[in-house]
Amino acid sequence: MRYRSRLGERTPELLEQAGALVIGLAETVDASLERLGPAATLADALGARRRAETIRFSRASLRALLSPEITPGTLLAGGFTLFDVYPASHNQEREGARLELALEFQRLADEQRLIATIGPRTPGGRAFAETEHFSLGYLTLGRSEPEGAEALLRQLALVLALRDHGELEVIFPDTLADVKLPLLGPAASPAAAPRIDATLNLAISADCGQACRFCSVRELAAPTEDDDAQFTRYLADLSESRAKGITRLRLNGYDPLAYPRVAEVLRFAVEIGFDDLHVFSPATLLADAEFCEQLVGIAPAKRQFYVPLYGVDADIHDAVVGTPGAHSKVLRALENLVQLSGPEAVTLITAVTRTAVGELPRLREYARQRGFAFAAHMPYPSSESRSDHFFTECPQQSEVARTLADAGNPLIVRGVAPCVAFREYLSRGIGLRSWLSLDPRMSGVPGAEYRSKAFRHGAGDRDRGAFAASTVECPHASNCALREPCGGELLRAYLERFGSDEFRAVGLTDLLLSVNATPGDPLSCDAGLELRAR
Ligand code: SF4
Repeated sequence: MRYRSRLGERTPELLEQAGALVIGLAETVDASLERLGPAATLADALGARRRAETIRFSRASLRALLSPEITPGTLLAGGFTLFDVYPASHNQEREGARLELALEFQRLADEQRLIATIGPRTPGGRAFAETEHFSLGYLTLGRSEPEGAEALLRQLALVLALRDHGELEVIFPDTLADVKLPLLGPAASPAAAPRIDATLNLAISADCGQACRFCSVRELAAPTEDDDAQFTRYLADLSESRAKGITRLRLNGYDPLAYPRVAEVLRFAVEIGFDDLHVFSPATLLADAEFCEQLVGIAPAKRQFYVPLYGVDADIHDAVVGTPGAHSKVLRALENLVQLSGPEAVTLITAVTRTAVGELPRLREYARQRGFAFAAHMPYPSSESRSDHFFTECPQQSEVARTLADAGNPLIVRGVAPCVAFREYLSRGIGLRSWLSLDPRMSGVPGAEYRSKAFRHGAGDRDRGAFAASTVECPHASNCALREPCGGELLRAYLERFGSDEFRAVGLTDLLLSVNATPGDPLSCDAGLELRAR
């Protein structure tokens, strides 16, 4: 037995304590071996179970298999604890696919998360570790592994290996076996269920019928089909999240409104107590007044529709979404929403593309005249591949800021680093006070927000975690006075496309001198800008 950790201080006392710990553990193993008899192995002494039995793979049986070493509340390697066990079923949403489970670990000290997956052993598959019946993998949600992740995964692999053996028979049910369970229980009572400040991101990736220039997501994963398994899973996700206290629902996906049973899903959500709805959709289907009325009629009083618009004129919008006629449908949808829900229920959103970067000032003015909130954000990739449309459609951040500065319109575009905006705006005499937001929801890069613990993902996106774009830490962050409103992270794909010359730390003196430059027009950007490019 060896001690493989590193001592902070190698004092004689600590060395002695570490030595005593090792000897103590070795003696415990010796004692166990003696107690278990001559046929016992080291694995037996460490807690291996070798009974011949049959288990049905489920959340409960997996928890039992890993117990008592890996249970919620037990401090594990790397400082993590087990937070939740749930289905991870990206390619397994169809009936007949075998269940795979995700184990979510969290480390409170630095809010790191690690999601391990355990499913049937797949010959030739890519796995972190394999045992007799299981494959163990993990998801990084677009980031490099957090420190301590490997130690945690090794601990998980060890415990799994100790419990899994040739005498064990494991029945892997299909994914429906898991989702049917919550539906069999009593419906959550809205009054009794607790409330927590979190959002269920229910990705219903029905076909949007558009071909947006900046979006590659439909090329990576086919739209969701309408089948009973999928429908059951949506309802199960809603029930499970509601039971945890979540009342805010974000309907997302390529176009959730194109899902034939969206009204049923929404009605169920409202019935079990979701009372804050955010709908992200191209919105073209809301041009149908009857359908719009049906959805608004079901939606809770607290609702917000995020409607993408890329140009005030039809030719620009239609060019960006690659769909002739889309602009006129969006305008009709806006009329319907205003009539049924009022302008305050609408946020116009736009992803800034090379095709339409010049439209930003006009779009903002259009939103202001119509009484809509307005939010702009930079595009982000749907994958890390160079073939992603992000690489051809993303404009340079300084070009975006320069366009707005030239128009005297210092808009906050989420994803334009504050240091880049700062220099462009200041060169036109536009002071910091007129554009900088200290709202934490405006910091950070778009495309990485789904890493936040404030989002829980529906089954279709759990394994993908919803895609979270890879980020790297800005090398200047530690010297930058704008680090806090910025978030200090940069999109890896952006750096690959444009390099890092635009990003330079802003010193405190520069910042103070700029505060009272010519006051501009303060941005009334709606604070709840939970955006996702589409
Ligand atoms: S932290 Fe880096 S990217 Fe962010 S504002 Fe400062 S220099 Fe720019």
